[in-house]
Amino acid sequence: MADVLLCAIVGITVCVLILLYDLYKSLYKVPKVTDFPKKPVTPIDKDSATDYEVAIVGAGPAGATCGYFLAKAGRKCLVLEKKKFPRDKFCGDAVCKTAIEILDEMGLYEQLVKDNKAKIADCGGMVSPSGLSYIGRSKEMMGRIPAAIAIKRTHLDESIAMAARGAGADLKEECSVEGVELDKKTGMWTIRLLNDDRVFRCKLLVCADGATSKLASTLGIVKTPPDSQCSRAYVEGGTHKFKADGVVFYNRDILPGYAALFKHPNDELNLCVYLIPGNPKVVPEDLPKWHEFMMKQDSHISRALGTDYKIEKMRPASLRLGGIPQSWDDQLIIVGDAAGMIDPMTGEGIHHAMEGGKIAAGFLSECLDHGNYSKEVMEVWHKLWMNKFGSDYKWSMWMCQLVYRCPMLLDASTAAVIRKGDEFLVKWADIMTGRVPKLHLLKPEFSIVIAYELMRLSFKRLTGQRTVPTTVVSDNLKKD
Ligand SMILES: Cc1cc2nc3c(=O)[nH]c(=O)nc-3n(C[C@H](O)[C@H](O)[C@H](O)COP(=O)(O)OP(=O)(O)OC[C@H]3O[C@@H](n4cnc5c(N)ncnc54)[C@H](O)[C@@H]3O)c2cc1C
Repeated sequence: MADVLLCAIVGITVCVLILLYDLYKSLYKVPKVTDFPKKPVTPIDKDSATDYEVAIVGAGPAGATCGYFLAKAGRKCLVLEKKKFPRDKFCGDAVCKTAIEILDEMGLYEQLVKDNKAKIADCGGMVSPSGLSYIGRSKEMMGRIPAAIAIKRTHLDESIAMAARGAGADLKEECSVEGVELDKKTGMWTIRLLNDDRVFRCKLLVCADGATSKLASTLGIVKTPPDSQCSRAYVEGGTHKFKADGVVFYNRDILPGYAALFKHPNDELNLCVYLIPGNPKVVPEDLPKWHEFMMKQDSHISRALGTDYKIEKMRPASLRLGGIPQSWDDQLIIVGDAAGMIDPMTGEGIHHAMEGGKIAAGFLSECLDHGNYSKEVMEVWHKLWMNKFGSDYKWSMWMCQLVYRCPMLLDASTAAVIRKGDEFLVKWADIMTGRVPKLHLLKPEFSIVIAYELMRLSFKRLTGQRTVPTTVVSDNLKKD
């Protein structure tokens, strides 16, 4: 009786805490640009070949999305990209719902699927550290916009960048920004390029140059290197045995990191190993070793790859996780990976780069109308994205520590998915991709079933029974 009462008190306390948190989030009002003094607006010469209202450095998902929405708002905007499209970017190529919705708003999503560049990830799931796995279906449940698609970055980034150009942004490729200076007298940034004599000027500068955040580091705003590394290796279509569209593999040895397999339209696979900070035995410098380990020693991945798979050389790239403490300065904001807009729980950031880029465009447009680009106003940008999705990163970091110390939590979560089925998997995915705050995992609909499975698995362990690796396939998949 006392136990039941204790559980009820804990349950009610948790619900009240979540309600208070949600209430705080809904009541917390980010200051508006118009709360600050209005300043005279000096128009930019529309015909000038050098002067812009906004210049964006980097045309990845963050910079190009920002350029697209600025151009749509009628702003004179320059997007400088050091490479020429189509260009590759080492990535897991998994693009989740928030990003797909923005691609749809840009009119790109359906065309990418029609052109066989994007594959809808309908059939997918997870494998827990003890080998419990669930493969479910989500497409029917999700409606027109799926939970995720797989698309190569050569296609995705080119299509967003070209959409930005189509909307009226001045996209200049093969323009590597070497340095920038703010002239306080004229209130204009001067932008210099590498091995190129052209010089551009702008009122507002956006650093969207990726995880290394070189420009903001040179300006002294970003003070730390990226936090970690992730690998990518393509597996030739037709050479593997992977049946699903996308699966996440949690292996005890690399927690809180994980590996993922995602399938492209041509049956090609992308194998990524995400090293997430928090495990002292797993350091970014050892990425090649861990990539090899997951590929060869993880029995689930080995089974998915089969014996005759043809895989390319592993390619590493940096991850800046969990948001930087300052993403603004005088007449400047930082967006996307450069600002650490990657969820530490997943290592994924395309959706937040795009969502950040879109929010940034709206914010900068308001600043331009108001004529005030002071540091105090620019700080509003940081509050905007922290309020929208960035504040959740601290819970992700906390969860990373939790699953590293208690991998059984992932077993229990997978067992809960097995028990509850596709609907639960979709809700789990919403939490993992930041559509729903991580704190919602404490809601009874999740916490009770996960706690029950945790107790069941703990009891088994205490009584010396092994957790038998089990794969459960959703009833919706069995129908086909
Ligand atoms: C191996 C790996 C796997 C990943 N897997 C996933 C995944 O499956 N799903 C997901 O959502 N996220 C994933 N991520 C994260 C994702 O790649 C990033 O969050 C996303 O690319 C961020 O976009 P961005 O525009 O901020 O930066 P980027 O995509 O890095 O774009 C930055 C752009 O700036 C340009 N640039 C840099 N310097 C200059 C300069 N000086 N002048 C001009 N241009 C410049 C670059 O050429 C580049 O085009 C992964 C990351 C890694 C490393």
